[in-house]
Amino acid sequence: MSPATTKPPASTSPAKTIGIVGAGQLGRMLALAGYPLGLEFVFLDKSTDAPGGQVGRVILGEFNDPKKLGELAASVDILTYDVENVAVEALGDIPKSKIFLPPVAALAAGQDRLSEKQLFQTLKIPTAKYRSVDSMPDLEEAIHAIGYPAVLKTRRLGYDGRGQRIIHSPAELGSAFNALGGVPLILEEFIDFTHEVSIIGVRNRSGQTAFYALTENRHRDGILRLSIAPCPDRKLQSLAQKHARRVMQHFNYAGVLTLEFFVKQGKLIANETAPRVHNSGHWTIEGAVTSQFENHLRAILDLPLGDTSPVGCSAMINFIGELPPRADILKIPGAHYHDYGKQPRPARKLGHATLVCKTRKELLMRLKKLPGLNY
Ligand code: AMP
Repeated sequence: MSPATTKPPASTSPAKTIGIVGAGQLGRMLALAGYPLGLEFVFLDKSTDAPGGQVGRVILGEFNDPKKLGELAASVDILTYDVENVAVEALGDIPKSKIFLPPVAALAAGQDRLSEKQLFQTLKIPTAKYRSVDSMPDLEEAIHAIGYPAVLKTRRLGYDGRGQRIIHSPAELGSAFNALGGVPLILEEFIDFTHEVSIIGVRNRSGQTAFYALTENRHRDGILRLSIAPCPDRKLQSLAQKHARRVMQHFNYAGVLTLEFFVKQGKLIANETAPRVHNSGHWTIEGAVTSQFENHLRAILDLPLGDTSPVGCSAMINFIGELPPRADILKIPGAHYHDYGKQPRPARKLGHATLVCKTRKELLMRLKKLPGLNY
């Protein structure tokens, strides 16, 4: 048959355009995972050089500007987000016909450390003792109930260790309150943990649910430096899954959900929930059969979920403040390099590397060769 008479095949699945509130590295990685599925992406972000702009159109504007959110909604089929500080009130103007996932209720719960703690209590997920603090007398009463040391945190907009102070003695009460005060706070029991882990779950709109391998995380100055997966403790894996499943069922959730825990004396103590793809899941790009990014998209589009099994043992190292030369990483067998294309700034996440090996022993040995590994 001559090309002139060939009819193009009828399309069985219409192209879907995904709107992402926030064009950070998470949005960029979502888009990179979505292009093979035939998806297109439009972002909303206030920054002209946000990483998402390298891979999709960016509507310039604030996350809490209902007009800009409306403009994004009008340009796409379905909405999701890569940031947690989207003002829930501003979402009210998005037409009801437009799907916005993960659910707003999960977003709202994750934005406020007090509602997050209350959620854990309601769902019988162990968490640190806490008290809400709005004044100096509140703080005195709270420390009396919780004891020293304790962690004072802002209820909202705290991430990567920002907006928190450890209080060791009565002499530090005033300075901690003054440093953070003026906004609603929460005082938490200081957990003397042995390590930190996170579980990443994914649930599609039909309720199909899957979990990634439990990931061990190391932070410094409140910022994630290193993740290693799978964490070999089967008991903790199934306990973490049980907790995450409960959160997802509670919200009739769709998308990727992350729960972060402290491990103390072999028990899990929930610290935070993030209703989105997560830094501790970046290893899944090369280290799992289907990445957290692809599965998030499958979940919100109600497609069958991909296999979450690990393909070996992986380590993810964040590049904070500066990027090592590509060649220094890529010469290590099993290493992959990710540069988010961001301007260097102290304490800024600029990229990451993932090292995938067959065994944990081999992984820990090769990890020592990675430059800049300082956690
Ligand atoms: P967050 O912003 O709550 O995720 O805290 C950032 C990091 O600070 C955590 O990953 C822990 O390493 C540490 N941290 C936060 N809360 C506590 C706590 N209650 N006890 C001990 N360490 C904490």
